[in-house]
Amino acid sequence: MLSEIVKRELKRIVGEANASFAKEDLLCYSYDATNSPYLPDAVVFPSGAEEISLILKMANSEGFPVIPRGAGTGFSGGSLPVEGGVVVSTERMRKIIEIDTENLTALVEPGVVTWELQTEVEKLGLFYPPDPTSLKFSTIGGNIAECAGGPRAVKYGVTRDYVLGLEAVLPTGEIITTGVRTAKGVVGYDLTRLLVGSEGTLGIVTKAHLKLLPKPETTKTLLALFPDIKDAAKAVSAIIRAKVVPSTLEFIDSACIKVVEEHAKMDFSGAGAVLLIEADGSAESVEKEASTIEKICMESRASSVRAATGKYEVKDLWKARRAISPSLLKIRPDKINEDVVVPRASIPDLIAGIEDISKRHNLLIACFGHAGDGNIHVNVMYDKKNPVEAASAEDAVVEAFRLTLRLKGTISGEHGVGTTKSRFIEMELGPAVIDAMKRIKATLDPKGILNPGKIFPKANGPQKAGFAGAGK
Ligand SMILES: Cc1cc2nc3c(=O)[nH]c(=O)nc-3n(C[C@H](O)[C@H](O)[C@H](O)COP(=O)(O)OP(=O)(O)OC[C@H]3O[C@@H](n4cnc5c(N)ncnc54)[C@H](O)[C@@H]3O)c2cc1C
Repeated sequence: MLSEIVKRELKRIVGEANASFAKEDLLCYSYDATNSPYLPDAVVFPSGAEEISLILKMANSEGFPVIPRGAGTGFSGGSLPVEGGVVVSTERMRKIIEIDTENLTALVEPGVVTWELQTEVEKLGLFYPPDPTSLKFSTIGGNIAECAGGPRAVKYGVTRDYVLGLEAVLPTGEIITTGVRTAKGVVGYDLTRLLVGSEGTLGIVTKAHLKLLPKPETTKTLLALFPDIKDAAKAVSAIIRAKVVPSTLEFIDSACIKVVEEHAKMDFSGAGAVLLIEADGSAESVEKEASTIEKICMESRASSVRAATGKYEVKDLWKARRAISPSLLKIRPDKINEDVVVPRASIPDLIAGIEDISKRHNLLIACFGHAGDGNIHVNVMYDKKNPVEAASAEDAVVEAFRLTLRLKGTISGEHGVGTTKSRFIEMELGPAVIDAMKRIKATLDPKGILNPGKIFPKANGPQKAGFAGAGK
């Protein structure tokens, strides 16, 4: 609960119209894509670093939590106010301040929607590669805090590879500028990298200096249908082994194919899995890569490989691909949505292992995702009203994590730990690593006011969102 003095002060800092304590407003900031709502005590819409600094300084003196929030599309509970407090929304901070066409950089505020930035830079012949499938809604601030990836990560890497420097407000209220505006720079510790992927627990990003690339000349989209899912998985490894680097290499299993068929009005009957592959670059290199990829897929027993024709088919396919995650809930009422990653050569072992877990637990496990970088979204489908099935689903996820770690992978490629995976980090990280991370947090946030209850398991931590990625 916030005191009347704190409420008055918050209104003074951000302006009367930019702070709310009304339940109907608070409800809108109580959830993310995990569908496990927690009501905050206030939501504020600051205009920049100075206002955020004053809020954080007051949070330290008055002892209330502050939770940064972008669009709330997170899959791990990162923006949930699990201990109440003040949600700091970046909705009013959505300016693209500069696109520097000479140095190929952009300076943006954190509330800019990923898609808007991409559209604006592409008008100038430039390219911002990180493309989480939530890109029509997610913000650059949320992408930086989660180090978001996407289909293009296989060739272009993830958000961290495009962040040159940041303006951020530390939990104790100091405004800092990190990184460089140049192509290189090694002066001091790399605080930019520390902040990227820190899930809003070490600072609030208020500006980001991003690297841009020249826009690729052309792109070709291929659809490869495989009767047997295992052959599709083998084709992924074979493409990587052949030293071809497509710009996207997405894997879609039979449960997810139904969703794509419905959305894109396409017929993939008979397919046990589909690979959606893109090559980009110069016209000549694209044709060469596409023909190598086609050959590898046919050698890996694809039943057909064809190019998506025309802008509209490609657009429809990606629209359908982006719809897979939310649409899976048409199949079963609930899902536990994980984003494990394994070394790419181990994709066939991961897919075979997940099939085995699915059979043993008698649960549908729908798999799709960024296979080209080894990142598969494993969706355990169940009905949480059925306690036996719910327990079985949780067991299946733990087994999927064990399998991933046995294959030398990681339990989260891009969704982060947040609240949903905090009790599993000990499966992957040793005690000395967790202790070092906790000490960094305690140094920067001695009072623990910034986004508490995230990443680290708590003895009596939040139970409601307590299961990994129990997302809607
Ligand atoms: C349908 C769907 C598809 C998705 N596909 C992908 C995908 O392909 N790849 C992928 O990586 N993710 C994906 N996601 C997950 C999610 O979209 C990303 O994690 C995204 O980066 C979150 O952005 P957001 O603006 O919604 O952040 P939020 O959900 O609001 O917040 C996420 C985290 O960032 C912190 N945060 C937000 N803004 C700031 C800031 N300015 N400073 C400091 N911390 C901040 C929050 O505290 C929280 O911890 C998907 C989600 C959905 C619903």
